[in-house]
Amino acid sequence: MMELSQESLAGRTAIIHMPSLSQHELYGTGENHKFVINHIRKAWFESLKNNKKVLLYILVASVLIFCCIFLAGQNKKQMLSDFGQNILAEEPQSILTEEPQSILAEEPQSILTEESVAASGKVENETMAEVENEVKTELSDTDSGSVSETGDASQTPEKKYTVCIDPGHFLDEEDVMEAQNTYGYRESNVSLRLAIALKAELAKYGIDAYMTRETDHITLGGYTDKELDKGHISLRGEFAKGSDLFVSLHTNSNGIDANQVGTFEQPKEINKTIIIVNKVAYNSDTALNIANNIGTELSKVNYDSGLSFTNQFIAVTRDTAREWTAEYNDGLNQVGTVCYRWGTKGDYYGVLRGASNVGVPGIIIEHGFHSVEELRKQAMTQELVEKWAKADAYAIAKGFGR
Ligand SMILES: [Zn+2]
Repeated sequence: MMELSQESLAGRTAIIHMPSLSQHELYGTGENHKFVINHIRKAWFESLKNNKKVLLYILVASVLIFCCIFLAGQNKKQMLSDFGQNILAEEPQSILTEEPQSILAEEPQSILTEESVAASGKVENETMAEVENEVKTELSDTDSGSVSETGDASQTPEKKYTVCIDPGHFLDEEDVMEAQNTYGYRESNVSLRLAIALKAELAKYGIDAYMTRETDHITLGGYTDKELDKGHISLRGEFAKGSDLFVSLHTNSNGIDANQVGTFEQPKEINKTIIIVNKVAYNSDTALNIANNIGTELSKVNYDSGLSFTNQFIAVTRDTAREWTAEYNDGLNQVGTVCYRWGTKGDYYGVLRGASNVGVPGIIIEHGFHSVEELRKQAMTQELVEKWAKADAYAIAKGFGR
């Protein structure tokens, strides 16, 4: 810019500063035409050169305007983009929060109509509703999973329980009671039928069971029958090793000619349900609970069957469990309860001692007194056996939380 100004000043100062004067006035009349034209052209260019400032301003202004327009355009695109994002951000929310409700609450049937199927929006909403439900389900599963990790047993997979059932005694001449009645009552027979029924009932609760014997006779560890009812009786209880519970099924009796009446002619006032626990069961809340449950259920069955004077049973804790005595066993009008009986080797009863030896909670279930004639009569029918089995199974399952 400065060079152009200095060049102008060298000889054409007037043109620069007086562009409004006529060419005649500038160059005088004596100059030839060609010279004048040349001067006019130069003057015009000079004028343009000096007007470059203006052109530059115009150019800069144009550039600025262009830039503004360009930026405005970019901004407009950006706004459209944001709007697009808004569409993506907001619509799913409305779809997830509002539409499914209306679909589920107000138009449950319209989903299936042709009209709603033709409306693609509805179909999308339905899909989103399903997605939402899946998400909720997944979240719910995650929540429950975290709960189970913190030790909530209710959320963990169910434990598989196994019960070892011991049908008391075995068939021998001492077991035959034909001489005392006409019903053919045998404790070994009743306990076997009861065990078979109990196993089937437990299966209904998903509880596995196996038996120390499945026939009139028993063989365990190389011993058989009488050996397993006397000297090696603890093998029955030890057969429960690895199981969750050992139950030895029996019907009860009393001392010879107790209550001043014949041994097998006892009044129903002697009849009560007695549950005897081993040391492991005594120290197990679950086993004590099962013992209480069984006694409670059996007492109801016996009373409802006309076999007992009461339907009551005294449930116990470790502190209130009763020590078994012959007086209590043979006493009249005594309410059934849970007993313990310790001997010099631990558990007094061999079957329970065997279970304790292998760390299994064990209980003897005295379902009733077979020294009561009516009980012998009913026990030889399958009806009472089934009732006892159902009561036992229900009580065990309940104790295991089933
Ligand atoms: Zn017995």
